[in-house]
Amino acid sequence: MRFENRVALVTGAGRGIGKTIAQRLAREGAAVAVNDLRVESIQQTLEEITAAGVFSLPVPADVSSAEEVNAMVEAVISEFGHLDILVNNAGIAQDQLLMRMTEDQWDRVIAIDLKSVFLCTRAALKYMLKAKWGRIISLASVVGLIGNTGQANYAAAKAGVTGFTRSLAREVGTRGITVNALAPGFIETDMTAQLSEKQRQELYGRIPMGFLGTPDDVAAACAFLASEEARYITGHVITVDGGMTCI
Ligand code: NAD
Repeated sequence: MRFENRVALVTGAGRGIGKTIAQRLAREGAAVAVNDLRVESIQQTLEEITAAGVFSLPVPADVSSAEEVNAMVEAVISEFGHLDILVNNAGIAQDQLLMRMTEDQWDRVIAIDLKSVFLCTRAALKYMLKAKWGRIISLASVVGLIGNTGQANYAAAKAGVTGFTRSLAREVGTRGITVNALAPGFIETDMTAQLSEKQRQELYGRIPMGFLGTPDDVAAACAFLASEEARYITGHVITVDGGMTCI
């Protein structure tokens, strides 16, 4: 199994893409620390991973809090002794046209979608540097690449994630650590469940493949980036978007 003896931490893994990534890494042999805001939201992910015979650890924390993030990473280290794969997946959207966007909507999205990536990566990097091996994979979005009406806060945060990724890749490239981002297009999760039929039909017209992706499509790309085979890929943003942003 390609992640045997590897320890992964997946943030926001209580549902959606994060949950599927945690399950995928576990299925391929990784011990997985499962983060979300509250332990109740992690429960189902944990039960499914444990049922597959893989060890997992609940690490509830608000990833926008430095104190909680540091304690979370310390809990992973004290349980497993190392942390090899970090998946910065937790994220929210608070959509609003800019003239109506509140400071709170701006700050919350930047804190949870961007600052969290800095905090979690900084905490985990210390141990990856010691081990001279690591995989850091962050969830960006096509919205951070091409923008979207009503999502200036989200687009700014996700564009920040790609800039962060490229910069850190340069910093730690000689240390056996790769740093990449995934930019999903529209994926079937709770985040996209609110789309009306009309919005869906419009979307299909913008996606060359003609359908929305699934969390499994994103998890497959994540597992590849986390693997040994991807050792020479760093500072890259892989779109998983059915061709939405191809030019
Ligand atoms: P989701 O809303 O289904 O799940 C996000 C998870 O993050 C939830 O379980 C939530 O509780 C958790 N979370 C939120 N704030 C948190 C915090 N402060 N601390 C810890 N956990 C927190 O979202 P999803 O659709 O699975 O998206 C996952 C990631 O992929 C996000 O970063 C999102 O921006 C990105 N993304 C999603 C899509 C899509 O179409 N669904 C497209 C592009 C990018």
